[in-house]
Amino acid sequence: MTSTLKPIVLMYHGTPTAPPITDYSLRASLFKHHLTYLKTNGWHLANVGKLMQFQNSPSKTIVLTFDDGYADNFENAFLPLIENGMKATWFITTDCISKYAQWMGSPSEQTKMLSADQIREMSDAGMEIGSHTCSHPDLSQLSFKQQLEELTRSKQLLEDLLQKPVTGFAYPFGRYNEDTLKAVRAAGYKWACSTRSGWFKKEDDPLLIRRVTVFSGDTSSILARKLSFAVNDVSLTKLATYYLQRLKTKLTNKQ
Ligand SMILES: [Zn+2]
Repeated sequence: MTSTLKPIVLMYHGTPTAPPITDYSLRASLFKHHLTYLKTNGWHLANVGKLMQFQNSPSKTIVLTFDDGYADNFENAFLPLIENGMKATWFITTDCISKYAQWMGSPSEQTKMLSADQIREMSDAGMEIGSHTCSHPDLSQLSFKQQLEELTRSKQLLEDLLQKPVTGFAYPFGRYNEDTLKAVRAAGYKWACSTRSGWFKKEDDPLLIRRVTVFSGDTSSILARKLSFAVNDVSLTKLATYYLQRLKTKLTNKQ
């Protein structure tokens, strides 16, 4: 398998100690394996803001992003990152700070969210904090005015809390429309992450940064494949199809 050196952004959610209640969370023990893998294979961890500044980013540059702001990220992601001298980016749903992710069903240990003190401590330790709206709505279903409100209010709250500019954003559920992009710009964000998979530089628009999703079953070897292909589905049948397609293209180009 050929390895790639292109920069890539990954999307994580919760990092519980117990088995995850959703496919989007990754057990703490597996997350530690990911960090070990990245370290031993020479990947450099950046944050999104840094990645945006690079003309040519150093080879093997990766950004780990965490959506929603789950409380278990503090112990199981933030502290291990700090221990390894690594950085990451968090997108906070501001109405849920110190509460529960209300869109995830009844309150439980795994839907508990970070507190304001924890978010401040993470920011002070060099973690990048962006907004994920106030209430985690599907923005594409809201009016422009409502979207702007979600975007502006969450940005202001985080800036008041952290005493620094907040210029990054991630779309809840990966949902947006034309009005969303206008509202993100009008609210003063410089960049935004989507949930479409692909390499970091796949889109020229800084408001459509692509990310590869990490799922609950992603072992280090699955992570390795994701870093090589920048797709969410790295099952062997999918990869076989990918190679066949490439071979076909090569043969066609030769004719
Ligand atoms: Zn979310």
